[in-house]
Parts: sequence; C-alpha cells; structure tokens
Amino acid sequence: MKQKKYLLPESEIPTAWYNIQADMVNKPLPPLNPGTGQPLKAEDMYPIFCEECARQELNQTDRFIPIPEPVLEKYVYYRSTPLVRAYGLEKALDTPAHIFFKNESVSPVGSHKLNSALAQAYYAKEEGTTNITTETGAGQWGAALSYAAKAFGLEAAVYMVKISYEQKPYRRSIMQTFGANVTASPSMSTRAGKDIITASPNHQGSLGTAISEAVELARMTPDCKYVLGSVLNHVCIHQSIIGLEAEKQMEMADEYPDIVIGCFGGGSNFCGIAMPFLRHNILDGKKTRFIAAEPASCPKLTKGVYLYDFGDEAGYTPLLPMYTLGHSFRPANIHAGGLRYHGAGAIVSQLMKDKLMEAVDIEQLDSFKAGLLFARSEGIIPAPESCHAIAATIEEALKCKECGEQKTILFNLSGHGLVDMTAYDQYLAGDLTNFEVDEATVARNLAESKLDPSKAL
Ligand SMILES: *Cc1c(COP(=O)(O)O)cnc(C)c1O
Repeated sequence: MKQKKYLLPESEIPTAWYNIQADMVNKPLPPLNPGTGQPLKAEDMYPIFCEECARQELNQTDRFIPIPEPVLEKYVYYRSTPLVRAYGLEKALDTPAHIFFKNESVSPVGSHKLNSALAQAYYAKEEGTTNITTETGAGQWGAALSYAAKAFGLEAAVYMVKISYEQKPYRRSIMQTFGANVTASPSMSTRAGKDIITASPNHQGSLGTAISEAVELARMTPDCKYVLGSVLNHVCIHQSIIGLEAEKQMEMADEYPDIVIGCFGGGSNFCGIAMPFLRHNILDGKKTRFIAAEPASCPKLTKGVYLYDFGDEAGYTPLLPMYTLGHSFRPANIHAGGLRYHGAGAIVSQLMKDKLMEAVDIEQLDSFKAGLLFARSEGIIPAPESCHAIAATIEEALKCKECGEQKTILFNLSGHGLVDMTAYDQYLAGDLTNFEVDEATVARNLAESKLDPSKAL
C-alpha cells in the first residue's frame, strides 16, 4: 500500500521557530511612528503589544527563536499536523504532479491560527497581563485566541467583523464557549466604532474597523494587551512551525517541493508554510516557487501598491510597509472572511518587491469549485480561505498535465470549513457571485486613504 500520511514523532517536533528576517538580504522595512515619521523601537510598542512580541517583531538577527516550554506543551496536543499526499486529488485531475498538503485543520479550533494564539497568550500571561483583546474576521482567529486565553488563564475580548458576526454565528458561539466576550464591529463601545457608524450607519465592518476598536480598548484598559492574528512579523515567526514540520515530513516522503502555495489574508499561514523552504532558496540556491493565493476581490499583492499605510481603518496603528489597497478599502462580502484585509505584512511585501515570491488572484466561484473537488476527492471540507490555495494548486497541477511535467506541489490546508457550511450551501444553490476589483477602483481607494502611488517603496 502507498503511504499517504506523514506524522512526526513527538521528539522530532521543532523546538524553535524560524525567523526569516535574519536571512533576508533586503530586510523588512521598519514600522514608523505616524506622528514623527521615525522608525519604532520595540519599547514604543510595549504599551499596546506584549513586550516579547514587540522584540520579535523587530528581530532581524536571530534565525531561530526558542519556543517556550509551556507553549510546546500545548502544541503537542495537536502537533505534528499531518503532511498528506493528495492521491485522490491527483487522480481527479489526472495530473503527473505530486500534490502534498499540510493539514492545519486538525488543530482543536480547526485552523493554523492557534499556533500564534498560544504563543501570544503565553507571553501576555508571563508579562503580568490579565486581559487580551483582538479583532476577528470570519472568527477563526477569535476562536483560536479565546481558547488560548483560557488555556493560559486570561480574559479575552474579541471584536468580530459585523458581517461575519451575522453570517457565521457558530464561530461566535465557539468563542463564547471558550469564555470570551464577543462584540460585533463597528460597535458603539469605542470612540473609533462610534465614528465609523456615524459616518456610515450601514458599515458591515472589516478587519480594519475591528482592529481600531481592539487597539482602542487595549489603550484604555489597564493590564490589557492587544494581540493580532496575522500581518505582523512575530505572527509569521510563530507560524513557521508549519513549514519546519513540513520540511522534515517531505524528507520522510523523499520529496522536495518545486512549488509551495498558501492562501493569503495578511500572510501568516503563507509565511508559515513558505518561509522555512524559502530560506533554502536564499541560502542554498534552491529554485522553489512560492505562490500566495489571494481573492480577486481583495488583491493587495497583485493590484496594490507598496507604501507605508495604516494597519487599521481609523489610523491607530503604526505606519506599516505594505502592499496595500488603502486602509479604507472595503472588501466585498466574500465568504473567505479571513482574506478580507487591505494589506500584506512587511516580510511578504519585501519578498514580493524582491521577486522572491509570486501572487495570484482567485475568483470566489473558482475557489469554491476547487474546494468542492478537494472535498470530494480527499474527504475534507476546506475553509473558504483554504479553497484559494487549492484553486492555485489545481491550476499548477493542470499546467503540469499540459506539459507532462512531474512537479512536486505543497500547499497549506489552513483550516476546515465545517463551520462555513452556509457558504457551501449558497455555492451549491448557485447564489454566489464573483467580485473583481479593477485598477481604477484601487486608484480611487488609495486616494481616499490619502496615499500617493507615485511614492511607492
Ligand atoms: C485567518 C485565516 C486565513 C488567512 O490569514 P493569513 O494570516 O493570511 O494566514 C487563511 N485560512 C484560514 C483558515 C484562516 O483562518
């Protein structure tokens, strides 16, 4: 019988995260203080972020960062996650390509997000914090954070994007089951929320609005820190556990990827699967291609501009170097809620600029078509976000078929879609549509966000 699934023994689970900043030739640009235009120091972030996370954010020298023992103890509840050879999908596509996926959907909350939630909750607790607050889109990060907070004895307050709060009530129930306090954003509970609602009473919310509210709460509440589920460098560092494991598991399968693919919201699962392999392109001359799969309705990597922009709608965050559509961008209400973010993190943005990775746009209908084929051939219903990675994988596998090339493709299955069945229902009923964003819309939105594309970095 052919082996299909690869797991690591506990003794082989990585005990340090990988920090690609140490190996990048052109380092990620620093975050800036919007008032002074000066680069931030770690201390400048301490009032809002956990101190250790702030230090990791700016750490451009340590290639490996030890995973604290209590975090490792929680990791082994669900890690290693399986690396799976997708024989079923290969057969359905009749492709000579070898397709592998790393299955992060087996975490207790159903996505990769827990890898960073546990780390951030641990640091918050260690530093004497009692409360943490955050934003969530589809609810995956909120669910992970709520569980992680409980695991380390913290209170969690989560601002959930209003459209998702209504579309995905079960994710809210999951967070509440773990004991978190959940508010639909924009809400009347913060200054930022009030301002947004006053300006647009029917605002459906976005990650940008929810971040503003959470940051404001952290600022106003003693012993409360703000934690973020994606975009920032320290989150990408924590997610490297995915690729570090995959590297060992690919070795067990006696293969090395020609192409690595991840879906792209702010960059955390993509960085997680890709960076440990990308280091071998930088250091050892490997020629693997890295593809970020983003939704055509929120195309920051393919149609955005590399500029300093705010990470949130109200402009509370530092200025971050990002491929951005403008912080006021309101993505269409696609079901892949976790991909509805206007910008890409500093590491990915620099790698894009240096052409060390690529990006593709996926239409909503193509993503669900791919998700359905995957579900029917592999027996796992993928998260709507992950469907974008699957669609990009299928595209590459079909190219292999056309050219008769036997490439090895690895993609990250960032989560399962068992709490997203409304989305599948609508797709099956023919009720979903595509939302494409054209160049003119991007230009208009950058102007609205007071960004000048001629100042591209
Ligand atoms: C949040 C989420 C994403 C997108 O976020 P990244 O930080 O870009 O990884 C993708 N897939 C799932 C399942 C998610 O929950």
